[in-house]
Amino acid sequence: RIDPNSDAAIAGSVTPFPIEDIAARLGIPANGIFRYGPYKAKLAHDYVRTLEERAPGKLILVTAISPTPAGEGKTTTTIGLGDALARIGKKAAICLREPSLGPVFGAKGGATGGGRAQIVPMQDINLHFTGDLHAISAAHNLLSALIDNHLYWGNALDLDTRRISWRRVVDLNDRALRQVVVGLGGAANGFPREDGFDITVASEVMAIFCLAKNLEEFEARLSRMVIGQTRGKRMVEAGALKGVGAMLALLRDAFQPNLVQTMEHTPAFVHGGPFANIAHGCNSVIATRSALALADYVVTEAGFGADLGAEKFLDIKCRQAGLTPAAAVVVATVRALKMHGGVAVKQLGTPDVAAVRSGVANLARHVENLQKFGLPVVVALNRFLSDTPEEIEGVRDALAPLGVSVHVCSHWAEGGAGAEALAQEVIALADRPSAFHTLYPDALPLREKIETIAREIYRAGEVSFTAAAGARLAEMEAAGFGRLPVCMAKTQYSFSADPALRGAPSGHVLPVREVRLSAGAGFVVALTGDVMTMPGLPSVPAAEGIFVDAAGVIGGLS
Ligand code: ADP
Ligand code: MG
Repeated sequence: RIDPNSDAAIAGSVTPFPIEDIAARLGIPANGIFRYGPYKAKLAHDYVRTLEERAPGKLILVTAISPTPAGEGKTTTTIGLGDALARIGKKAAICLREPSLGPVFGAKGGATGGGRAQIVPMQDINLHFTGDLHAISAAHNLLSALIDNHLYWGNALDLDTRRISWRRVVDLNDRALRQVVVGLGGAANGFPREDGFDITVASEVMAIFCLAKNLEEFEARLSRMVIGQTRGKRMVEAGALKGVGAMLALLRDAFQPNLVQTMEHTPAFVHGGPFANIAHGCNSVIATRSALALADYVVTEAGFGADLGAEKFLDIKCRQAGLTPAAAVVVATVRALKMHGGVAVKQLGTPDVAAVRSGVANLARHVENLQKFGLPVVVALNRFLSDTPEEIEGVRDALAPLGVSVHVCSHWAEGGAGAEALAQEVIALADRPSAFHTLYPDALPLREKIETIAREIYRAGEVSFTAAAGARLAEMEAAGFGRLPVCMAKTQYSFSADPALRGAPSGHVLPVREVRLSAGAGFVVALTGDVMTMPGLPSVPAAEGIFVDAAGVIGGLS
């Protein structure tokens, strides 16, 4: 029953190497890993510690144009580029996020690449993997349980039950859980109050998991998370519930970076996966730093388009972790360019050179934006079998005035061999001295940070703040949080807050509806438009196609 052309079947056509052989390629000794079966491992904490002082390799960011709903192949290109670097003899590693079960069973599917550019074993990685997301859910919900238990036993902290912002989590798309009432059923069950569920990857615990450098910092950040307010409107931190030690005990093993391999046996660290809207959307700092200590070139992906994912990768992750990226690859597809040229999503299969050419405005804008961070940039055109030579020529032609190279890549069809020219160019760019800088300094007031991103990256004419958002920003400045970076929550489909505004709009108004403090993660979230922290399932969810055959092989994952 397994479709021979499916990602699952293609991934299943290669036999992975034992994971200790992959570790050995990076010089990791046998006692530096814990194996989770033959093909998955975690790096041991004490081994990770020994890597801290090593000189880092070059960090390559893979980002993309404003995508279509299907995704433009950032993960696939990250894997293909890593394989290409390995093929041309470089010591390379890949850093990716761990898939969430929400998209796996929802509309988007898994997150292990596609075609001949995949990480394996894809079924394991897409489903329970090494249990990290379950550990994060358990630690998050332990804190929820402690909060309700605290209310039950007298509420010594004087928590206002209407102002508890710490919700519960589950790693599934389940819209029915967005708003719930807990504590029903009488005095023995506590005090009824409104609550709700977010998807696990939207948890602040996940954001911290991905930003903390070590266990000590992880614990300190968990303690600082704000869980709600007292009746006198004083902020209450998680540390006050006295459960942070227990949370960390649940998270200790999960916090060790996971090691797997690509279909071509390139080492891949797949660890952490924060939401790309209310969080920063890239894999863990601990995995990235470990990979940089072990490899000469590390290729990593940031979620969504470059206006969101790359900006947050650079202004939040790199700023907080002191990372210096060496180059950026912007992934584009003919179908997304066509969409930005005005073609409806359903019509994207029909060749349309004029639309492709006009859609290049979106790509060019992202390239210019990345150059504002002092990063050298190269474009990877992720080739689909349906792309026509005329359309590809149109992209080259329309991009020529920008002076940035375009490489047509066929790693999806051919594996690393299809991205070798891209790899050569990336090496040339990355080996130059870095001129990377963040977009704004820590000292800029929060409001001006938001305005800077809106003006420089989104090209908005103006930012409108609701009265409540303005007041909250002032409160945060007064409370000493003004030096934090901002984490923008915006639609990924447009530079503006309106998903229907394609191409390269400018002069629009960016409406900031609400701001939230993520004191543990160390950023202030600015919400524009509607942002979902618990997605729903589509009318035909991917779950309907997933099955296990009589031999125990899982099919239907893509
Ligand atoms: P992103 O990381 O940008 O969201 P992915 O790499 O996950 O995108 O790719 C999204 C989907 O598109 C995957 O199912 C992948 O298999 C498919 N895909 C990516 N590149 C190609 C290609 N060149 N041809 C056909 N399908 C592709
Ligand atoms: Mg991806």
